[in-house]
Amino acid sequence: MKKKIAIVGAGLAGLSAASLLAKSGHDVTVFEKNATPGGRMNRLETPEGFKFDTGPTLLLMLSSLRKLFGKLDRRIEDYMELKLLEPSYRVFYADGTEFNSSTNIAMMTKEIREKLNSDKEIEAYLKFFSYLSKLYRLTIPNFVDRNYSRLSDFINPKSLYYLATLKMLGSLYGRVSSYFQDERLRMLFSFQTMYLGISPFEAPSVYGVVTYMESGEGIYFPVGGMYKIVESLEKIAVEYGVTFKYNSEVTKIEKQEGHATSLVINGSEKETFDVYLVNADLPYAYETLLDEKPKKNVVPQSGELKSSSSAYMMYIGTDKQYKHLPHHNVVFSADYKTNLDDIFERRKLPEDPAFYVCIPNRTDPSLAPEWGDSLYVLVPVPHKTPNIDWRKDEQLFRKRILDRISDRLGMTDIREHIVYEKTFTPDEWASEYNLWKGSAFGLSHSFFQSAYFRPQNKSKTLKNVYFAGASTVPGNGIPMVIISGSLAAERIEEDLS
Ligand SMILES: Cc1cc2nc3c(=O)[nH]c(=O)nc-3n(C[C@H](O)[C@H](O)[C@H](O)COP(=O)(O)OP(=O)(O)OC[C@H]3O[C@@H](n4cnc5c(N)ncnc54)[C@H](O)[C@@H]3O)c2cc1C
Repeated sequence: MKKKIAIVGAGLAGLSAASLLAKSGHDVTVFEKNATPGGRMNRLETPEGFKFDTGPTLLLMLSSLRKLFGKLDRRIEDYMELKLLEPSYRVFYADGTEFNSSTNIAMMTKEIREKLNSDKEIEAYLKFFSYLSKLYRLTIPNFVDRNYSRLSDFINPKSLYYLATLKMLGSLYGRVSSYFQDERLRMLFSFQTMYLGISPFEAPSVYGVVTYMESGEGIYFPVGGMYKIVESLEKIAVEYGVTFKYNSEVTKIEKQEGHATSLVINGSEKETFDVYLVNADLPYAYETLLDEKPKKNVVPQSGELKSSSSAYMMYIGTDKQYKHLPHHNVVFSADYKTNLDDIFERRKLPEDPAFYVCIPNRTDPSLAPEWGDSLYVLVPVPHKTPNIDWRKDEQLFRKRILDRISDRLGMTDIREHIVYEKTFTPDEWASEYNLWKGSAFGLSHSFFQSAYFRPQNKSKTLKNVYFAGASTVPGNGIPMVIISGSLAAERIEEDLS
């Protein structure tokens, strides 16, 4: 039966769910606080012609986007041209080693032999990838792309068998270290948990699936930039009849007797719906929109939910091209663990920060003026904490990052060539997108905040309220939030049938 469905937030999860629900015949309206869709997947264009994706830059696990387009009776190729990046990215170690990471086994074995000088590690690499491919094949359908209704959906003989035989529960760093002796390879195959905003020393080894997505399946890039994905999903949603209301911040979800009854928009206007799907960050939504304490999905439910790390961003336009650098560049600190402990344990700005630089115009020259580069710099930092006052601390940190870019990436003259610059701190992740504690990557992915234990996509107190996005199941990242949108839409359809 056709229902009136409100979606709060036009992030990737909200966009995915909106089209699916509208395709099933529902009357769907999306309320977005900002002027454009996409949430964290946003874009920035300058008058000089520098074009930046401001959030995600790595398109992994293409199958999730393909599956969504399939469900919507669309073909990705009709909406964007995708390029598989080869090599995937270059890694810069503090000892001066530069390693090109690739999905191509021949390339990888050559790099390991030539750069790391170790045949033994080639064997380890092949064994590790055999393990990762099995982990990935069994984890995605059994633990990720599914809804959980009860504990036994998660803890049952089959899942316990997988958890034990695939050794899913120790730390990913520990698991990787059981294969490799060379610290550089341990770093290379474990740092991907930072995409989830969790240290590889804490992340359960099941998150090796992210390593596999990247090194096994590859990194794609849509010509024109990542924002093509948002534009395509918004277009499809409109084709299915979804109404978008931008500059419409939901300030309250009103409730009565176990049901949500209406939305308050921009503090005054009210609209009533049958079903409410919240794509705004889940812990923020519980606290601010629903006036409830966000809870763990474990017994006991007391204790704070843990947030992921955040990101300090620099979007830099230069009047020079640094052609020696590829599209994706990962720069490790001298001491891997110290940098991670600064972020996750000591909660301070790292002294020797690792960082990532993306130069999208290497793949698509239209993304920068022909005389310059669009440099996207992401530095993992703690989420909002009293230890850091960005208004005071930012200048020094920015200087530290520019020094590192200059020394570590062979860009010694960068300061003289900056013609555009914008920075973005965790305070702004919080204010622009209502991200709880300014965490760029949602709730953390510790074991007790994963799968069944992660806050689920259906409210326990309000019968017609659901959630989709990075802080509910299955988790953070483009593939996961696309799956999240589908899982929430499925949950709503099941409850309505
Ligand atoms: C810097 C950065 C780099 C990343 N890199 C990658 C990457 O390379 N690859 C990858 O796969 N993933 C990456 N990610 C993760 C990925 O961007 C996110 O997982 C994903 O975009 C989250 O989508 P979402 O739908 O959960 O939420 P969001 O993008 O947060 O969308 C929620 C929307 O709700 C809106 N909203 C909030 N409150 C309200 C309200 N009260 N009323 C109305 N609207 C509201 C917000 O404005 C926002 O538009 C990155 C994230 C960041 C921050």
